[in-house]
Amino acid sequence: MADPQKPQYDKPYCWKCKGHTPFKTRTVTSTSDYGATGSSRKVHNCRDCDDIMKEPRVLDSAYYGPLGIGCLSVYFIITSAGLLFFAIDRAANGEHDKIIWILGMLALLAFLLLVLPIVVLLRATKRYATWKQWAEERGWVEPPRKERAWKKGDA
Ligand SMILES: [Zn+2]
Repeated sequence: MADPQKPQYDKPYCWKCKGHTPFKTRTVTSTSDYGATGSSRKVHNCRDCDDIMKEPRVLDSAYYGPLGIGCLSVYFIITSAGLLFFAIDRAANGEHDKIIWILGMLALLAFLLLVLPIVVLLRATKRYATWKQWAEERGWVEPPRKERAWKKGDA
């Protein structure tokens, strides 16, 4: 059995037990309303506390490489531009009587498309930082971004 106190970038980590504790893995398949099976993913649960465990690398932005960061930036730019365009278009049409409704829609869209993903990203970054601190206390040295990026053959 591997030492749970030994930092491992690509092995599930339990943030509650603070270690790479033994885990059980189950495959979760998302099913659409039409009964078609969608993507399946593996979920790891800690054997000690049953908390969901994640490999630190999936929370590290460097793991997704320049392409992942690029796609994300494009998403945020296009979404922001779209929202701005929508706002300008409505304002230009002078629908002042509907201004509250339009602002409400904008706020809702901005929240769903921009704020929510940012919160998720920040949470991941924070969790990665927590693991990194734990790992560095145990002598782990973070490899350069390039080496942390996802490679073909990674399971
Ligand atoms: Zn645990």
